[in-house]
Amino acid sequence: MSKQGIGTISVQGGYRPGNGEPRQVPIVQSTTFKYDLADDMGALFDLEATGYFYTRLQNPTNDSVAAKICELEGGSAAMLTSSGQAANFFAIFNIAGAGDHVVCSTSIYGGTYNLFAVTLKRMGIDFTFVDPDASEEELAAAFQDNTKAMFGETIANPALKVLDIEKFAKVAHAHGVPLIVDNTFATPINCRPFEWGGDIVTHSTTKYMDGHGAAVGGAIVDSGNFDWDAYASKFPGLTTPDESYHGVTYTKAFGKEGAYITKATAQLMRDLGCIQSPQNAFYLNLGLESLHVRMPRHCENGQKVAEFLSNHPKVRSVTYCGLPGDPCYELGQKYLPNGSCGVVSFELVGGKEAAKTFMERLRIAAIETHVADARSCVLNPASTTHRQMNEEELRAAGISGGLVRLSCGLEDTQDLLDDIAQALEAC
Ligand SMILES: *Cc1c(COP(=O)(O)O)cnc(C)c1O
Repeated sequence: MSKQGIGTISVQGGYRPGNGEPRQVPIVQSTTFKYDLADDMGALFDLEATGYFYTRLQNPTNDSVAAKICELEGGSAAMLTSSGQAANFFAIFNIAGAGDHVVCSTSIYGGTYNLFAVTLKRMGIDFTFVDPDASEEELAAAFQDNTKAMFGETIANPALKVLDIEKFAKVAHAHGVPLIVDNTFATPINCRPFEWGGDIVTHSTTKYMDGHGAAVGGAIVDSGNFDWDAYASKFPGLTTPDESYHGVTYTKAFGKEGAYITKATAQLMRDLGCIQSPQNAFYLNLGLESLHVRMPRHCENGQKVAEFLSNHPKVRSVTYCGLPGDPCYELGQKYLPNGSCGVVSFELVGGKEAAKTFMERLRIAAIETHVADARSCVLNPASTTHRQMNEEELRAAGISGGLVRLSCGLEDTQDLLDDIAQALEAC
C-alpha cells in the first residue's frame, strides 16, 4: 500500500482489524494474559518472543494507539505513558543516569523544567539550560564529555517560542547525542520533528491529541535514526548486555529501530510502572481520530484572536508565531507552515489586576489549569502557576504580571472575538 496521508492515519492508523474483529480498538481491560506452557511465558520474560504478560509493561490497547502515534510522527517504534511528565522522564532516563548531563532549551514547560532541574538533578543528572536563540557555537559550548541528550519543545509552553529543530539537531549530532523534541503543542499534524533531524519525540497526549480534556497521558516515539552503536561507549544501557534480561543487548536484538523503545518498555515500565490505562488509551484514540480536523480549526481561531488582540488598545503585546513581526514568525513559517496551535499569550496594559478582571469577565473561555482543549480556557501565570514567584523572579522567567495565556478551542471564531471584546471593555 502506498504511504497514506496524515488524515487517513489519524483515523485508521495503528489498528487494522482482521476478518470479523471489532471495528473500534478494543479496550483490553485485563491486568494479565494466560498461557498454556510455562516456557511460552518464559520466552516472553527473556524478550525472545513478542506478546503480553502483564499490563504494567504492555497492553494491546495501548500498543495499537502508540502505533498510530508512531505512524503520525513517521517513527519506528512508540509507547504510551501515564502522562506527559512520565514521557519526558522516561525519554531522558532511558539514556542518562547519575553522573550524566543533558543540554536543554530554557524555553520549556514549567513542569518539565521542575522535573529536570530539581527531580532529575536529585537523581544525579545535571542539566545545562541554553537560550534556544543561541548560535551553534554557543550551543556547542554547553556540551560536556558526559552529555547524553539535547532537549527542546517544538512550540514552548507557555512562551510560545518555536524551536529551530535543524540547528539543535546539527549541534546534538556533532556531539554524538540524540535530540529529543517535545512536540505536544504542534502535534504531528503541524510539525514532524523527525523530518528536521529530531531523533526522539515526546508528547503530553493530555493536550491536543486527546483534545477533549478527558484523559491524562503521554507518548514517546523513536525515529529509529539514531545510531547508538556508533557511540556505544556513551550509551552502554543500549549497547551492552542487560543482566536483568538474561544478557540481551538491545541494539543487537532489536536494531537501532527498536532498541530504545524496547529498553524503555522492558526496564523502565517494569521498574517504574508509569503505564497509561487501556481505558485512557481508548479515549486518546477517539481524540486522535479527529486530530487532523481539529488542529486547523484551533489554528484558525488562534490566528484570528491573535490578530484581534494585536490591534486592541488595552493590549500591550501579543505572542503568536503566526503574526508577522513576532520574533518567531520566520521559524514558524519554516517549521509550521500550516499553522502552529491555538494558544496565544498576551500582556494587558493594566497589568495583573486587569488580567484578573479580563479572565473573570469571559463567558466562553474558562479559568483552568489546562491548554489545548476543545473548550477555550485561560490562565494568568502570575496569579496561578507562578504565584510563588516575586516580581523579580517573574521578570527573570519572562512572565509579566499582566500576561494572559489563552487557549483557543473549537468554538465559533466570532463568538470568541465578541467575548474577548466585551471582557476587555472592563479592563
Ligand atoms: C502539559 C505538558 C507536559 C506535561 O504533560 P502532562 O500530561 O500534564 O503530564 C509536558 N510538555 C508540555 C509541552 C506540556 O504542555
